[in-house]
Amino acid sequence: MKFEFCPLCGEKLIDKYSWDEGYIPYCEKHDMMFFDTPKPCVVVAVIKGNEVLLLKQSYIFKNSKVLVSGYVGQNEKVEDTVEREVREEAGIEVENIRYLGSDFIENKEILMITYVADYKSGEIKKSAEVEDVMWIPINEALSHMKENRIGKNIIKKILNNKQQTGTY
Ligand SMILES: [Zn+2]
Repeated sequence: MKFEFCPLCGEKLIDKYSWDEGYIPYCEKHDMMFFDTPKPCVVVAVIKGNEVLLLKQSYIFKNSKVLVSGYVGQNEKVEDTVEREVREEAGIEVENIRYLGSDFIENKEILMITYVADYKSGEIKKSAEVEDVMWIPINEALSHMKENRIGKNIIKKILNNKQQTGTY
């Protein structure tokens, strides 16, 4: 978000020069700069054998399935968000969380931090906010994610890694 007014006192912010960053909205009263703030969100592909955990959430995509995702909480490590979201949405535990890279959702100011993780334990027990949770063969996952650009990118990376290293 590009700040126009000070979120602390409501004063109109002025542009202050900040070297490499260029001009940044600044509150004189608080002597504080307010940088644009993308919202960090995790996406994780949970792998079990040759299958990946997919969710059906029609409010995100009508005709596509999605990976587990969620916003990073205040005072929360990103890796903890990954574990928490998988537990909340699917009722299972993961291990070996590996960073896959990042992506963004244009015009939504959302920074997507993407991971792959291995299934550790538990039976699928979906949350009320999820319509369905299922294991889908990774080789078939792309055909379930037609509208889901970020999800497809993640699956492609995973398939690519598998080709190069022999493991997901
Ligand atoms: Zn202020």
